[in-house]
Amino acid sequence: MSDSEYSLPLPPNQKHSMTTNRTFTMIKPDAVVAGNSGAIIKMIEEAGFRIVAIKKTQLTTDRAGQFYAVHSERPFYNDLRTYMSSGSIIPMILEKDNAVADFRKLIGATNPAQAEEGTIRKLYAKSIEANAIHGSDSDENAQIEGSFFFAGTDEF
Ligand code: GDP
Repeated sequence: MSDSEYSLPLPPNQKHSMTTNRTFTMIKPDAVVAGNSGAIIKMIEEAGFRIVAIKKTQLTTDRAGQFYAVHSERPFYNDLRTYMSSGSIIPMILEKDNAVADFRKLIGATNPAQAEEGTIRKLYAKSIEANAIHGSDSDENAQIEGSFFFAGTDEF
C-alpha cells in the first residue's frame, strides 16, 4: 500500500476499525502532583505513540470506584478510590501498532519494585498504589476506558 493510501481519512462509519491499534492511559495523581507529566508524555511520544485525545481532569471517589469496579472486592479498593480522586489526572487515548501490549511494556509492572529498568513506573512510581500511570490490559478495556473519559468528543 502506498503512503497516500495510508493518509486517506477514514469515513465516519469506519472510525472504530482503528481501535485495535489504540490504548487508553491516564497519568495518575502522584505523577501529576510531582510535576512528572511532561517527562512521562515525552517518553510515551518517543516510544512511538501518537496522542489521539488528552485532557486534565479530576475524578470523584464515586467515578474512581466505577473506573476500578473490577477491584471492588479487593482489600485495597477503598484506598485506591481515595488515592485516584486525590488530585488531577491526565487521561489519554493513544495510537500505535500493537498499542495495548507495547504500552504495558513501556509502563512496567504494577509494583515499581518489580518494574524493569527504564519503564515509566520504575522511573516515576512511588508505590504499588501510587504507581504513576495506568495502561489498559486488553483491546476491549481500552475501548471501554477510553469511552469512560472521552465518549461524545470529537477525538474519539
Ligand atoms: P495495573 O493493570 O498494572 O494498573 O494493575 P491492577 O489492575 O492489578 O490494579 C489497578 C491499580 O490498583 C494499580 O495500578 C494500583 O494503583 C492499585 N493496586 C494494585 N494492587 C494493589 C495493592 O496490592 N495494594 C494497593 N494499595 N493498591 C494496588
